[in-house]
Amino acid sequence: MKTISEIRADFPILATKVYGKPLIYFDNGATSQKPEAVINKLNEVYRNYNGNIHRGVHALSDKSSEEYEIAREKVRSFINAEKKEEIVFTSGTTGSINALAFSFGERFINKDDEIIVSTLEHHANIVPWQMLCERKGSKLKVIPVNDNGEIILEEYYKLINQKTRIVAVTQVSNALGVIVPVKEITEAAHSMNIPVLIDGAQGIQHAGTDVRESDFDFYVFSGHKIYGPAGIGVLYGKEKWLSELPPYQGGGDMVDKVTFEKTTYGALPLKFEAGTMNYPSAIGLAAAFDYVLSIGREYISSQEKDLLTYATEILSGIRRVKIFGKSDKKISTISFLIDGIHMYDTGMVLDKLGIAVRTGTHCAQPVMDRMGIDGTVRVSMCFYNTREEIDALGTGIEKVIQMFS
Ligand code: PLP
Repeated sequence: MKTISEIRADFPILATKVYGKPLIYFDNGATSQKPEAVINKLNEVYRNYNGNIHRGVHALSDKSSEEYEIAREKVRSFINAEKKEEIVFTSGTTGSINALAFSFGERFINKDDEIIVSTLEHHANIVPWQMLCERKGSKLKVIPVNDNGEIILEEYYKLINQKTRIVAVTQVSNALGVIVPVKEITEAAHSMNIPVLIDGAQGIQHAGTDVRESDFDFYVFSGHKIYGPAGIGVLYGKEKWLSELPPYQGGGDMVDKVTFEKTTYGALPLKFEAGTMNYPSAIGLAAAFDYVLSIGREYISSQEKDLLTYATEILSGIRRVKIFGKSDKKISTISFLIDGIHMYDTGMVLDKLGIAVRTGTHCAQPVMDRMGIDGTVRVSMCFYNTREEIDALGTGIEKVIQMFS
């Protein structure tokens, strides 16, 4: 078992300084930092076996194709999908949801059909469905949340009906950190044979997932949020669904036979992977999974629970700080405002102290509207953060209050 210092040493950026101050990185919800193992893997691909996948008969192409397919198998195992063919690589969560909304929409959505999302969604799980609704004349229905940002399940049960074609909800609110009752949501949808898409962009980093145990029909996430490279993501879909869906892009590598009269498509998952995929990042993502598994999910989860408890205690103890999304089911993310001080001022002063937080709507305007605010300051922690960093955040917030009083 590694010590926290050893873990931190695995992430070179954590030893750097900003404005001459040690970096305290609390923006893991936006993107996580990368361990040396991932950085080295990318380096290894480009230095040793860079060749376009599934194309050549030469050694470099063979090696990169092999590593790419090993990466697919690692994703399968990490989320416990049944088959490798159910794992489609994309550019990220946004890419995955857009692909699904287009493809599922083409096949299954007609005028007046309904699609259910929740108030908590990131724009990536709202806008593609709205675009589909505009194209098809279908309707978006929204599950409300209470004042703490918790899903009101009774209202969801009222929304779901014979016209519902898909339920698309996030596993965890990126803006507030509140965990969504995806099990109950899935069970209710399945009782009416309606598929569910779970946006795992935030969930995968903290809560992990077992798509088979949870019986999700579709699960999407981005590599960069789980210590992997940017530009790679995953669309998991049960084979029974993916095999029914049409491709969302046409091009090289996704076809079986092309003539000017007719084109037939390749088998799963390649029919959804047109063009040159981001194979170096897929291979890097597999290295990120290996790293996470070497640290252990139990360790990660207990460390993050401790950070959440401690940070909540520290922030709650500061007069004028108001936390949004107070719930006993949360990941290690805290959204707050300081009474009378603009979030951007808070963020800017903290930045000058070397503390990186996110300010704004977090690409989740509807939930900010529901809370009656323009945005928040968001502290998103992960297992490489420490209590000492939280102490520094507390001191930093006191400084902000002093400066603006
Ligand atoms: N969904 C959620 C819940 C997110 O938190 C994010 C990013 O913050 C996204 C979707 C979009 O992810 P990406 O920008 O990696 O596609």
